[in-house]
Amino acid sequence: MTLADERIDRLHELARAATKECNDDRARYYVRLAKRVAERQRRPFPTAFERSVCGACDAYLRPGKNARTRLQDGHVVVTCDCGNQSRYPY
Ligand SMILES: [Zn+2]
Repeated sequence: MTLADERIDRLHELARAATKECNDDRARYYVRLAKRVAERQRRPFPTAFERSVCGACDAYLRPGKNARTRLQDGHVVVTCDCGNQSRYPY
């Protein structure tokens, strides 16, 4: 666990908290910050974090609020409000 990993974890928490308070712009800011830290330090982006972030608009996704989650042919399909879909097997 490096300092960068800790910062990314912390930003994940902040993004989640901001989304809870409907502060979507702030959440997006934290997401972008975390991505930048990961890139600069060449750290892998944690899978759990990656999956709760829209790849197109960097929104922190909350199913039922700004994202739809559906199961399809052995995949989880998450649709962001911006229309971007991400899928992964379960
Ligand atoms: Zn989006």
